[in-house]
Amino acid sequence: MKLSSRILLGMVAGALVGALLRLLAAHPDSFGAALGAWLVNTAFDVVGSVFVASLKLMVVPLLFVSLVCGASAMGASARMGRIAGKTIVLFLCSTAIAVSVALLLANLIDPGVGIELGGSAAFDAAAVPSAKEMLKSIFPTNPVQAMAEGNMLQIIVFALLMGIALWRSGEAGAPVRELFTSLNEVIMTLVTLLMHLAPYGVFCLLAKLIAEIGVAAILDLAKYFGAVLLGLLVHGVVIYSLLLWLLARRSPLTFFRNVRPALLFAFSTASSNATMPVTLNVTEQRLGVDNRVASFVVPLGATMNMDGTAIMQGVATVFIAQAYGLDLSWGGYLAVIATATLASIGAAGVPGVGLVTLVMVLEQVGLPAQGIALIIGIDRLLDMARTAVNVCGDCVFSTIVASSEGLLDDAVFAEVSDRDRYTAGS
Ligand code: ASP
Repeated sequence: MKLSSRILLGMVAGALVGALLRLLAAHPDSFGAALGAWLVNTAFDVVGSVFVASLKLMVVPLLFVSLVCGASAMGASARMGRIAGKTIVLFLCSTAIAVSVALLLANLIDPGVGIELGGSAAFDAAAVPSAKEMLKSIFPTNPVQAMAEGNMLQIIVFALLMGIALWRSGEAGAPVRELFTSLNEVIMTLVTLLMHLAPYGVFCLLAKLIAEIGVAAILDLAKYFGAVLLGLLVHGVVIYSLLLWLLARRSPLTFFRNVRPALLFAFSTASSNATMPVTLNVTEQRLGVDNRVASFVVPLGATMNMDGTAIMQGVATVFIAQAYGLDLSWGGYLAVIATATLASIGAAGVPGVGLVTLVMVLEQVGLPAQGIALIIGIDRLLDMARTAVNVCGDCVFSTIVASSEGLLDDAVFAEVSDRDRYTAGS
């Protein structure tokens, strides 16, 4: 069976087992409930956490090594400037489109009309840093600390500088360049090996999640849940297909077939950061995007490009306004589009961060941040779906930028064989 089919099977089986364990937990004194509790709190917890940790441990070394390779191959050339420019413009435009789609759908569906206020959960609105602070914090004073803290934007800046310096240092830098190229190969092989564990890891993550939170909460917020999912579907399938076709002239069907493993990883971990090694592997080895583009667009996208998150924020803003009986003006809608687009830049791709930056959006249009308590109960499930769209966007824009630069290997992109490309060492 292909890797993506095995991961999908792991997910479905995990969700079913989780649902079963939740049923068993309804009889607290039974043997089944005790066994279920042990499975959920110990076995699934350990395997799931080890799986996510094994992905995360590769993020910093891979991001650094891969981007140094990419930047040292391009140097501070006009091409690098072009790639950076195109990437950032695409990220911003597509996020603005995503919020607009969300606002349109939310106004058609009216998810917040008739919602009971007085949410059960409390939400602690954390302080969001200002744009000035954000800009200053992108430049590291200590690269080792940036790596220890996993600060993606700081590592990107340091790797770009290192790469450019390597490019300029000519003969003297050759051994270091070779070292980085070889390290890059080694880490990619590790990613490939670890991807084989995904079906088991995904099974445990899903079983634990469904056993713990269940899906009943969705019923109370069915319209909100449905509106976000519809927005994600429209953006992830229709808008991305159109962009791929119009800007890169590549078949969306082939694209979606190739990116499946990255989407499944994103869905089960709810973290673009943790999925980054797989996203990079998929863009280079299955989509045929050259390392010079992928090593820049993918890590930057994991932090800056969050269309799925922006869609949730658009729908959530309308939902909260309706639930509190407040009206959003046209100016308010524009402010939502601008703030949600900018908020996605500063947020790291980790679970639940979309809710934190939602505070920024709500405050911008004068809505109560406490409204987030209404939707917090089902956010984890939506987080999974929107992270898949976030990661899909990173793959779409890598493909488009690579194609526009003549750096897309069509033979790899169009490969239709059923052969599992993830055989160890390939
Ligand atoms: N979990 C999302 C991501 O990692 C961010 C969010 O929407 O909370 O991309």
